[in-house]
Amino acid sequence: MRGTGRPRDIVIVGASLAGLRAAETLRAEGFTGRLTLVGAEQHAPYDRPPLSKQFLTDSTPADTALPVPDGLGASWLLGRPAVGLDPDSRIVTLADGSRLPYDGLLIATGAAARSGVIPGEPGPGQGVFTLRGRDDATALRAALTPGRKLLVVGAGFLGGEAAAAGRALGLDVTLVEAGAVPLERAVGTEAGAFMGMLHREAGIDLRTGTTVAEFRTAHASAAEFRTATASAAVAEPGAPVGALTGARLSDGRTLAADVALLALGAVPATGWLAGSGIEAAGGVPTDARLRALFPDGAVVPGVVAAGDAARVPQPLAGGAAPALGHWSGAVEQGAAAARTLLLGEAAPVFAEVPSFWSDVHGVRLRSVGLPALGDTVKVHECDREARRLEVSYHLDGRLVGALTIGRTSRLAAYRRALTEYVAAQHA
Ligand SMILES: Cc1cc2nc3c(=O)[nH]c(=O)nc-3n(C[C@H](O)[C@H](O)[C@H](O)COP(=O)(O)OP(=O)(O)OC[C@H]3O[C@@H](n4cnc5c(N)ncnc54)[C@H](O)[C@@H]3O)c2cc1C
Repeated sequence: MRGTGRPRDIVIVGASLAGLRAAETLRAEGFTGRLTLVGAEQHAPYDRPPLSKQFLTDSTPADTALPVPDGLGASWLLGRPAVGLDPDSRIVTLADGSRLPYDGLLIATGAAARSGVIPGEPGPGQGVFTLRGRDDATALRAALTPGRKLLVVGAGFLGGEAAAAGRALGLDVTLVEAGAVPLERAVGTEAGAFMGMLHREAGIDLRTGTTVAEFRTAHASAAEFRTATASAAVAEPGAPVGALTGARLSDGRTLAADVALLALGAVPATGWLAGSGIEAAGGVPTDARLRALFPDGAVVPGVVAAGDAARVPQPLAGGAAPALGHWSGAVEQGAAAARTLLLGEAAPVFAEVPSFWSDVHGVRLRSVGLPALGDTVKVHECDREARRLEVSYHLDGRLVGALTIGRTSRLAAYRRALTEYVAAQHA
């Protein structure tokens, strides 16, 4: 009977990083049953981090495909998004109406770029882009031609990298950020100010403490255009109707733009779980073994979640489950969730120390732990000329994270200390 003992039929929804790592782990751990990977995109699994970096700047972008091991023995259902889950009968429904029964289900549908929050927002055809997948990056790349004016909305990691890519390609770049410095909530004022300095040194017009209140687009008639832009330094009268011409900021200033990138964060791609009884708008809530939970805390039988679609308790955060969206988290959670499918209660508790990197203006930023948790930041080195930074984050005196720029080797000691702390929590 389905649903008892070791699973014989496993479905993974989300055929990307976490999903692929889960599939590899299942086979490595001896799973010999039927394995099906369902993906919304037509593409086989590929890596996303290069999409805001080399993929935009290299004259011939490298293939970002993730290697799929020979002999994985999986069925791939690509270009066929899942649209529903019935956890009682253990069936996943796809957009084409097909129904996939499972003993074990792994949810790894990642996240989607946030959009649709700024008035007047046109689409990619009119010059306003988001960046999550390879198709987005291909479209954005084609729009980033030298001399154009690029507006990047949001100076988080992705926005900062894309702004840097735009400058490297010879565009005029304006980077608009609501916070007082870039990345303030994620890494604090010190590291954020350092990033701001790097952006300005590269010639990016960084505007902080302001937001994009409205996009401006070209109007149908010259009269309408004149009325709409009477007080604004925006828009080329020759732009095609509907095309992006600029934006008005919340501080009242206006700016011209031919291309804009919305870098406003990501939302878990969990809409397909509506009606399943799992409340997943903020990510699928899981227990410490990555088993999906109903709102009353009961385990959803046979269902685990991993990666950007999941909200996983972090030992460093005292078991709270912050939204992280890190590459390493997807890899480690994919593997851990697969083990839970096979071993259930006997699977190890997930005890990751989160880590993250970003490449911007030729320097590498790296972090371990959860910098956003810190109530105190200690600056151990800040050398603006040499572009080196080392900071650590503490909560009630306890180390919770560290960040370096151009000093990756310094992270190892912090990682050790954080790993020891997490291990002690589970001892
Ligand atoms: C441009 C970019 C740059 C990044 N750079 C860095 C970096 O420098 N460092 C870092 O640590 N992290 C970085 N990240 C984050 C990292 O890539 C993600 O954390 C990681 O990709 C998450 O993997 P995932 O498998 O959980 O989700 P995803 O990679 O988002 O994969 C989810 C898959 O599920 C599919 N899917 C969605 N809905 C459905 C459905 N209903 N049915 C079937 N399939 C569905 C999606 O199409 C997608 O293929 C970056 C992300 C982006 C977008």
